[in-house]
Amino acid sequence: MIDLEARLAELDGQGLRRRRRVLESGQGAHVTVDGRDFLSFASNDYLGLAAHPAIAEAARTAAAEYGAGAGAAHLLTGHHVLHHRLEQELAEFVGLPAALLFSTGYMANLGVVTALVGRDGAVFADRLNHASLVDAALLSRADHRRYRHGDLTHLEQLLRESDAKDKLIATDTVFSMDGDLAPVPELLALAEKYKAWLYLDDAHGFGVLGEQGHGVLEHYRLTAPDSRLVYLATLGKAAGVSGAFVAGSEALVEWLVNKARTYIYTTATPPMLAAAVSASLKLIAGEPQRRVRLASLIDRLKTGVASLPWPLMASDTPIQPLLIGDNHDALRLADGLRERGILCPAIRPPTVPEGSARLRISLSAAHAEADIDRLLTALGELA
Ligand SMILES: *Cc1c(COP(=O)(O)O)cnc(C)c1O
Repeated sequence: MIDLEARLAELDGQGLRRRRRVLESGQGAHVTVDGRDFLSFASNDYLGLAAHPAIAEAARTAAAEYGAGAGAAHLLTGHHVLHHRLEQELAEFVGLPAALLFSTGYMANLGVVTALVGRDGAVFADRLNHASLVDAALLSRADHRRYRHGDLTHLEQLLRESDAKDKLIATDTVFSMDGDLAPVPELLALAEKYKAWLYLDDAHGFGVLGEQGHGVLEHYRLTAPDSRLVYLATLGKAAGVSGAFVAGSEALVEWLVNKARTYIYTTATPPMLAAAVSASLKLIAGEPQRRVRLASLIDRLKTGVASLPWPLMASDTPIQPLLIGDNHDALRLADGLRERGILCPAIRPPTVPEGSARLRISLSAAHAEADIDRLLTALGELA
């Protein structure tokens, strides 16, 4: 039996103990945490929709009509007309034939990967993929091959060497700790050449990438992607609500309804959340100025950081990591910002490679220019 007290003390000693802070306001650029007001660069609420009144209102109206709970799994009586309609809207939104809702992105990744590859299959994964994709590959019992981040030559070598029956290439589209993009068109070409699925996890791209916010496929103008493409987006980040969906061919969705265990053996999400996501989609599509604003805030940050001693990593997305290097320096910087009323997390190994500790600055359309300037001033003082 593990000695939990001792192990926790060990984490404390290594500076690796994680603790939760209590959010007492809605999510946004300005939040109240543990009784104190902060300017926050620490959420995934990229479009500033998490606390949007029209989305909350849609949830309220649906709850008044249908109640709070789904009451059953989708294959029993939990599949509500609000879920069903939303799936059609989501498929249309990303330009794919069909879509399927899951309760969370984590569950979707576990369910999809295990439904598409098994013991005699192989998963080819970018080294920097999200933890849920790593767990999905392990759970599938497929051969798990990780290629160097963004390295197509390495990936092709692994594909060529493999004699697995079913192959699946899995990648984040926007890498969550680096903010850079996966080379999707080249990955699709490799998937075609080696007859593999291409599974795109667009958790940080949906709502943000593309002029209309349709995500990574719009960004790369992949308008008629083929049937080996499996697209996932989460609905708790830019969309500001909760849940996830997988999109692809009709046959894919039918297969997942029958085989994805995290779809089958779990209660459907509350229908009111489907109503909230529908309202969010209207804002994502109807208010492109949120993305324009985000792009201008990213520029402002990049310009301001140029006079600081640390570089930003190469990213054009709202994830703008400031590369510090040393763990303790990164922690000291995050602490210094917190003393100045600014929340911005220090990300350290093992989440990122040794020697690449960073501040993960996450921007939102809800930030004001003055918020960016305040962050830059504080960093200047701490430099
Ligand atoms: C957040 C995230 C997930 C998990 O999505 P949830 O809906 O929060 O469970 C999956 N993949 C990536 C890349 C993520 O960033």
